[in-house]
Amino acid sequence: MSKELLRGEVDESGIRLHDEAWFAASDIALHQGISVDRAVGSAPDDLAVVLADGQTLPAAAVVLATGGLARRLPVVGGDLAELHHLRTVDDARRLRQALVPGRRVCVVGGGLIGAEIASTASDLGAQVILVEPTLPLEAVVGRDVARWLHDLHVAHGVRVVEAAVVEIRTAATTSTRDRSTRGGSTPGGSTSPRLEVVTSDGQVLAVDDVVVGVGGIPDTRVAEASGLEVVPGSGVVVDGAGRTTGAGVYAIGDVALHEHPRLGRTRSEHWDAATRSAARAAAAIATGDGPESEREQEHEHEHEHETPWFWTDRYGHHVEVTGDAVHGDRVVRGVVGEPPFAVLRLVDGALTGAVTVDLGPTGRAVRRLVEAGASVGADLLGDPATDLRALARRLPR
Ligand SMILES: Cc1cc2nc3c(=O)[nH]c(=O)nc-3n(C[C@H](O)[C@H](O)[C@H](O)COP(=O)(O)OP(=O)(O)OC[C@H]3O[C@@H](n4cnc5c(N)ncnc54)[C@H](O)[C@@H]3O)c2cc1C
Repeated sequence: MSKELLRGEVDESGIRLHDEAWFAASDIALHQGISVDRAVGSAPDDLAVVLADGQTLPAAAVVLATGGLARRLPVVGGDLAELHHLRTVDDARRLRQALVPGRRVCVVGGGLIGAEIASTASDLGAQVILVEPTLPLEAVVGRDVARWLHDLHVAHGVRVVEAAVVEIRTAATTSTRDRSTRGGSTPGGSTSPRLEVVTSDGQVLAVDDVVVGVGGIPDTRVAEASGLEVVPGSGVVVDGAGRTTGAGVYAIGDVALHEHPRLGRTRSEHWDAATRSAARAAAAIATGDGPESEREQEHEHEHEHETPWFWTDRYGHHVEVTGDAVHGDRVVRGVVGEPPFAVLRLVDGALTGAVTVDLGPTGRAVRRLVEAGASVGADLLGDPATDLRALARRLPR
């Protein structure tokens, strides 16, 4: 909901997953505005969580869903208080105030979050500079789709600087002459820029605001304080059902680092993966299975067969990526760069991945077909006249 919130299309009440009445009706005691400090003891005897005010809540199982923190830029000035990051509602509120017509905004990082912020900022009339040294998403959607996505920035008036940021500094040291050549007054901004972004190709970008979107790091603080196995900077080590090294303690979502037999340790930062990991942990808790049971083994291996899926929205385009959209035989439905279109991948005749752009309900059908590993001939797949929704409806439920 970050896009809608930044654009002012919803207010803060509109992004709540549930209101307090829902928690009450679901028999969930909600403790808001207070942090969990750590989990203590172990199931089944004396497991509990300790809150920051010292309260102790006994529990049969504890699930850590502490998510992540925005990564800081590891350069001189990367810790300046003036910089924006986007992770919390407070971050969004502060950033929203900066995204006004004419304001000079530098977005550092053109990945999922940086690109979406650049898109929103430009929609809101800000003068946006995006600094990104690589072609983002190339490894996930392939070169041509990644190129088209990245070029949308320029097509929408964003200046793209293909370089890395090496320093950020306040503009106080800038001379009067520099200010007049680089800055000047802007309707939304101050008369002189507040910050300077120095790039690896020697440019000095004078701007009013800098938004850093260079990824997230898992928030493992509670796990560490609870004595659980954590790989620093990578996440809380869990099995397929979300079980940590602490008896009765699970970790799910962005903070969890799964052991995967083929891929090694993996961590996802996507909503769908977080939701699925929650379901697996809930199933394991609800069935009360121990690590040795067969059902537990099932939960443990479910994630190995799940098809990753995420979406991103920018400049009015809705992009969905399912499975491995880069490897295998390539089938293009429509024309890359002329939405709606899709690039699909087949391995041994079975659908293994796809990237879809603006396909609406057909995009959802593609997702189901990929999840099912459906065998659909390349000719049929590539023909926009083929009704993929009808094919998906025929899949066994
Ligand atoms: C700006 C932005 C845009 C995104 N856009 C997309 C998108 O378009 N598509 C997509 O698939 N994914 C997107 N994501 C990723 C998605 O939001 C995450 O994968 C998902 O929210 C992870 O859920 P989670 O429950 O693990 O963590 P979070 O949603 O991060 O929730 C963690 C919660 O734990 C709380 N917490 C942390 N520590 C404590 C503590 N000690 N005590 C109590 N509470 C604590 C935090 O305050 C927070 O509310 C986006 C993320 C961001 C930041």
